[in-house]
Amino acid sequence: MMKKSIINSVISGLCLASTSVLANVEVGVRFVVDDALINNWRSEETIRDELERWILETNTMLSDSNIAMSLYSAETVMSNMAADSDESVIFNNMRREINGFNNLENRADEIGADYTIAVVPSLDNGLTGDDRQAYCGIANTVSRNMDEINAVDFMDSTVIVDYDCSTDTFAHELGHVFGLSHGAQVAEALGSTSHNSSYHAYSKGWGRIVSQASVGDSFEDEVRDDGEFGTIMVGNYLQYWSRRNATTFVGIFSNPDVVDIACGENGSAGPCGNALLGNAARSIRDFRTNFAAHATPDVHTLNYSDSNLRACISQTYPYTPGSSLYDINRITSISCTASDIGSIDGLEGITGLHSTIVRPTPGGWPVVEAPFVDLSDNRIVNLDALYQLSPDSTINLQGNNVASCHQLDELEQTHTNLIRPDRCLNIAALISTLALI
Ligand SMILES: [Zn+2]
Repeated sequence: MMKKSIINSVISGLCLASTSVLANVEVGVRFVVDDALINNWRSEETIRDELERWILETNTMLSDSNIAMSLYSAETVMSNMAADSDESVIFNNMRREINGFNNLENRADEIGADYTIAVVPSLDNGLTGDDRQAYCGIANTVSRNMDEINAVDFMDSTVIVDYDCSTDTFAHELGHVFGLSHGAQVAEALGSTSHNSSYHAYSKGWGRIVSQASVGDSFEDEVRDDGEFGTIMVGNYLQYWSRRNATTFVGIFSNPDVVDIACGENGSAGPCGNALLGNAARSIRDFRTNFAAHATPDVHTLNYSDSNLRACISQTYPYTPGSSLYDINRITSISCTASDIGSIDGLEGITGLHSTIVRPTPGGWPVVEAPFVDLSDNRIVNLDALYQLSPDSTINLQGNNVASCHQLDELEQTHTNLIRPDRCLNIAALISTLALI
């Protein structure tokens, strides 16, 4: 989903009405976890904490890569998967929405999960004996056209990650569905150009090979030569020319504008990418709004602190499986009158209320559709959530006689179609009165 981060002032917005807005594209992730990972020494809570850590660490990687995009956890669910480590079986289960992946696409659409991650205890190519090859993770696709970037087919927004392989793999597999390939050094080390296949020529990982034992040779023969490194999209393939460790694995998406000692030689700093052949950061920046637009939450799924507000919104806009009619960016009116609502925290997340739509009509005057919010006859004190509404919005607060006078005064200056209650609550005066007692 796309949304703006909002930090609400805590103290009922006494005089701290305005909210701060961070211009950053946010991408929602939904984890579907094989509950076979829960055992005597690893609780569900441990797993949930670990997956939150993946999100946090990936966000650090993104910001270290100079990419103004971050992930957030839309939902984590434990699921009883018919245990199978074969990646093609798992992807097939996901596509058919069976064996632990029920309602996969509609749920992602409902809550605004742009990407769905299957987290499993074990992953491989489905073969046995010497032919078995274990994987840390696998993406459904390396996105190479706009349909794939936009995940027109839901499966193009899915990856599988082995739980034990952790953040580096999670970030790497997401990189593939973002359009990134492993890059020139991996292609060289393994003698296969398939590792170079990506959206743009620059949508690749980057690294440096000083010397390798032989093309595609066992990593056990490799030692570290000074200057060798690989970025996130090089991933574990780094072991084919250098020992993969904290020194050689550089936890950023390739970016020639990031100059760091980890990417240099002989103790001097060097660029962690190449403008023509290794600029994964640019590629992610190119498409980040596309990634964030895969799925938008239905208005009933936002976090409303007041259960009466939540009930009113759920009744007005009930869950409609597979429909985007009630996505938060398409809601332009809220009518919750006399519903015993005490708090409207959460309402600010309804992005459809943030702007006024001017719709051209054939040959006639354009139609102006300004948001309409009727909250009359409730008991709402704090009006913070209304500041982000389109200035053209009609906001009806009649009968909300406990609304903050100060906030009403402020709102009225920016929102001229505000309908005030007859009375209001002078919180500052109230506090000074209390102080006198
Ligand atoms: Zn890969």
